[in-house]
Amino acid sequence: MNIILLGPPGAGKGTQARFLCDERNMIQLSTGDMLREAKDSGTEMGKIVADVMARGELVTDEIVIGLIREKLKGDKKGGFIFDGFPRTLAQADALAELLEQEGETLDAVIEMQVDDNALVARITARSTCGSCGEVYNDNTKPIPADGKCSNCGGTEFKRRADDNEESLKQRLMEYYKKTSPLIGYYYAKGQLSSVDGLGEMSAVKADIAKVLA
Ligand code: AMP
Repeated sequence: MNIILLGPPGAGKGTQARFLCDERNMIQLSTGDMLREAKDSGTEMGKIVADVMARGELVTDEIVIGLIREKLKGDKKGGFIFDGFPRTLAQADALAELLEQEGETLDAVIEMQVDDNALVARITARSTCGSCGEVYNDNTKPIPADGKCSNCGGTEFKRRADDNEESLKQRLMEYYKKTSPLIGYYYAKGQLSSVDGLGEMSAVKADIAKVLA
């Protein structure tokens, strides 16, 4: 089963993708994570995308489609979860083509609906474990008092450089201008399901499970 998690930054796509990986042996393909890795390891491509990402703008379709193309050739396990990809109509068309070439289908597109005020609150409070990527939130899921990640025991926590109000505004603008048209695109294709992304993590997880049942 291959699925897309669609929604604005902070909607909870990464958190839900991790649940699906654990429980269904799926593979999370987060273009944001791939780009951050490239940036942190200082590759040529990483250098090109660093400023664009810091400003909260989208990197070129060509770069992200290339990243996804490579991953689709690898182990497919229980299927792919596309997290933060596609973000433009051109990326969506490219994904359809790439899946077809691999003899794969797109089984669901799940839109995670969250209002903008909640997004700002979530994003400015978020941090992740530097070792395993577990997501924390200062208000709703604080880092444990002993300073150790509840998932892996790691003791280093990171805040994303682009999780600040200024670049968030730009990321939201990009979402509404370039990514939200995908909601209509997948609706018209009969592939769209929507869940309320504002609920408790476990409630959102249950709603996603219903869509995939
Ligand atoms: P994310 O972790 O999904 O919020 O992505 C972080 C940043 O990486 C975005 O603000 C963009 O600059 C870039 N990015 C991630 N995925 C894509 C994509 N599919 N298309 C273009 N840019 C992307």
